[in-house]
Amino acid sequence: MQYSLTCPAQECNFSVKVNTQNSEWALEKIIELSSFHNKQSHPDLPRITHEQIKNIVLSRAQEEMEYDQ
Ligand SMILES: [Zn+2]
Repeated sequence: MQYSLTCPAQECNFSVKVNTQNSEWALEKIIELSSFHNKQSHPDLPRITHEQIKNIVLSRAQEEMEYDQ
């Protein structure tokens, strides 16, 4: 199962991908990496909340599962 998040900032190609069966671990990892990226690259952007990251990652994972069938 692949979980991923693309940076919502314009003209930023940063994305995180995690391959695992453990969705909680995937979310933790993606939140950690994207928070780090945001602090480094977009300190002036409004901080995306952990809840928002979870929603984005999970809805995308859901879509990919549907494609696979
Ligand atoms: Zn970015």
